[in-house]
Amino acid sequence: MKVVAIGNQKGGVGKTTTALNLSAALALQGERVLLIDLDPQANTTSGLGIECEGEDSVYPALLGEADVRDKIRDSGRERLSLIPSHMDLAGVEIELARSDDHLVRLRQHLQGLKPNDLFDYCILDTPPSLGVLMTSALAAADEILIPLQCEWFGLEGLAKIVHVIEQIRDSGANPGLTLEGIVMTMFDGRTNLARQVVEEVRNYFPDQLYDTVIPRTIRIGEAPSHAKTIFEHDPAGLGARAYREMAEEFLRRHQPAVVV
Ligand code: ADP
Ligand code: MG
Repeated sequence: MKVVAIGNQKGGVGKTTTALNLSAALALQGERVLLIDLDPQANTTSGLGIECEGEDSVYPALLGEADVRDKIRDSGRERLSLIPSHMDLAGVEIELARSDDHLVRLRQHLQGLKPNDLFDYCILDTPPSLGVLMTSALAAADEILIPLQCEWFGLEGLAKIVHVIEQIRDSGANPGLTLEGIVMTMFDGRTNLARQVVEEVRNYFPDQLYDTVIPRTIRIGEAPSHAKTIFEHDPAGLGARAYREMAEEFLRRHQPAVVV
């Protein structure tokens, strides 16, 4: 099981949308996916049409009061499981900051899941801050995937998160953390600015930047209000095509190199 955190400390850049639709696309392509919602706003949870009490969320596991395994639930979609979030999770920052092992707790839980071989990928949706929940996710992840909005401000945020990745590595919490990729979201091809930003990111991160660019579409934006993934809401549209292509690219990057 590969653990991939979807992260960017900036809000509204498409983290949740990407966590949801990439997970759904991977599941449709035959992968077994565990999606964990680590954002107290619980948009990933509600986006799948799931409601839960605080005790059924990832919260007790983060506090060390429950096993994550007991919090995994069916999303109602084949091969896609979820550990939901709840607004109670907002309080976890304070409680976790008090404990010594807060940074490694999620990591220990997920390492414990790996030998079970129940999932191919574990996708972590993270909150828009650099607090304890985000750092726990980065300590637990094998890789981070950064959704980036096609704006100049997005580039400033990128420099910051790359710095945080280095800090997590250097702290010894997770020396093996890698930058899996950067995916440009909410692309509007009518503006020169959007194209310039993509080119700028390509200059600095030629290997990490996804070829797939996620367009801004009305359908992607409205799908969560129907508690649907883009594949359920508009399966033949541009958004579904983009997330399907992104998942294909993700899987190509994760294929073991063929030795000839
Ligand atoms: P984050 O999790 O980074 O805060 P979201 O994924 O919740 O960001 O996206 C912020 C808002 O933008 C949401 O209302 C979402 O539905 C919308 N959105 C995200 N991606 C797209 C897109 N490609 N096209 C149109 N709307 C989008
Ligand atoms: Mg979000």
